[in-house]
Amino acid sequence: MSKNTVVYPGTFDPITLGHGDLIARAATLFDRVIVAVAENPNKKTLLAHQIRIELAKEVLAKHTNVEVVGFDGLLVDFANQHGANFILRGLRGATDVMQELPLAVMNRRMTNHLETVFMTPSEQYLALSSSLVREILQYQGDVSEFVDPIVNQKLKNM
Ligand code: ADP
Repeated sequence: MSKNTVVYPGTFDPITLGHGDLIARAATLFDRVIVAVAENPNKKTLLAHQIRIELAKEVLAKHTNVEVVGFDGLLVDFANQHGANFILRGLRGATDVMQELPLAVMNRRMTNHLETVFMTPSEQYLALSSSLVREILQYQGDVSEFVDPIVNQKLKNM
């Protein structure tokens, strides 16, 4: 039986409990989950690429079939290089749908064996985003409810 590998790409600036919820679900459905932390020079991030990767690695160490890898370039190339047959993206509401559909269609146009699958998190994470966490941090607010304790500690020490 062939193995199913899914790539979950994102900025993870920082990784939140919403991302973690989705990854835990994916880890039960797929043989292998590759969390692909994007280095996008056009996107200004709060955390450096290496820190985003390290935090994701620490938070996700408990999952034996989840790997964290940094990437830049085209997602379809990354997926092909890693033998992935699925891309995972999260859907929290209508805005995500509008944003994600053209990307999924475009990615499939580029390699037609790569399907995008969408998953939704537990309802307590539906309103959670990394951008919200960053906004709270900007005003020295408490984000402990939204991120893993490892991430919270790191952010406090920044
Ligand atoms: P990007 O810059 O690619 O949107 P993010 O790190 O913000 O990177 O998000 C990566 C993926 O995780 C996206 O598909 C996004 O919709 C999804 N996601 C983000 N937050 C949540 C959440 N709270 N619940 C479920 N999915 C989420």
